Amino acid sequence: MDRGHLHEILETILTVPTAPFHEYHVREAILQLLKPCDSVQIKEDDFGNLIVLYGDHTATPGWIFGSHMDHPGFVALPEGSGFQSAAARIRDQFTFLGGVPESYLLRKFPIREFGRFAMWDLPGFDVRGTQIWSRACDDLVGCAVIVALLIALDRSGVELSCAAVFTRAEEVGFIGATRLGKAWPFQPSSCFVSIETSVAVDRATMGGGPMCRVGDRISIFDHTATAAILEAAQRRSIKVQRALLDRGACEASGLQAYGIRTAGISVPLGNYHNCGKEDVISPEFVESFDVEGLFDLMAAILEEFPQGPMDCSEVLRKRFESGVDTHLPFIKGTSDLFLPLND
Ligand SMILES: [Zn+2]
Repeated sequence: MDRGHLHEILETILTVPTAPFHEYHVREAILQLLKPCDSVQIKEDDFGNLIVLYGDHTATPGWIFGSHMDHPGFVALPEGSGFQSAAARIRDQFTFLGGVPESYLLRKFPIREFGRFAMWDLPGFDVRGTQIWSRACDDLVGCAVIVALLIALDRSGVELSCAAVFTRAEEVGFIGATRLGKAWPFQPSSCFVSIETSVAVDRATMGGGPMCRVGDRISIFDHTATAAILEAAQRRSIKVQRALLDRGACEASGLQAYGIRTAGISVPLGNYHNCGKEDVISPEFVESFDVEGLFDLMAAILEEFPQGPMDCSEVLRKRFESGVDTHLPFIKGTSDLFLPLND
């Protein structure tokens, strides 16, 4: 599938400010981008998570791609909230929400205000060679690639049904995903695929392609769905890295706790949560190759397995059995050396 305006969409979404519970600007940008798409239906739940359906809206989608619209940042405390925060996390009227060590917060890196929230004063979108740098790659890159895919699907008119969810307040512990899990709008068999940006661990590297996340710090994801993702990559010759990304956790764990089938794909991320070298707050960055690979992989998953995760055991059995066939001469050549067991 043609990647269409992937890079323009990345620029549009990455330049939009966001913070936990203050995802309304990103939400609006997503709505505007999807507005011209006739084959896309957009709903929301009572928390403001976006639920987007592509194709036949009456069908049960096999794949649901999910990303979160927030990023660690400073938010104004609601009056009389009684919310307790460590001194290092407080700046003027704001409190910092999200996983950033205090050693970084204590350096008092400049911030930029956007009404009732603030972000680090860093560029929203900056191309440096093969890399994209931003104050919030996590998880606006995920949002942008899913939007680009929905637009590409709409333009192609391909007949299949799939869905996407854009959640709120992931960075403080899967608040949006939890609300979604409690009132899951799909079948439990519909596979939620967490689309994230993550630190490359477990031998994965930046520039090595998107990472098929077999699990995170909390859970191991669905084997059949993971195998189908890897099989789609193999069939389309898409460079993908298989990794247990256990430096963090993602919404797949949040939803799996509600019995929902899950998988994960992550783009390798530099300067995770803006944590640069020597406790200096810095832009996050990703490799364009990995982001484009994520788009291609998601499209391949839909094209190869439009009904949802398919049991690929047959493929594996064939591979193993051909190994048996190849070695038949050895099996026959050693059979006389194994004496029958005495009764
Ligand atoms: Zn994050």
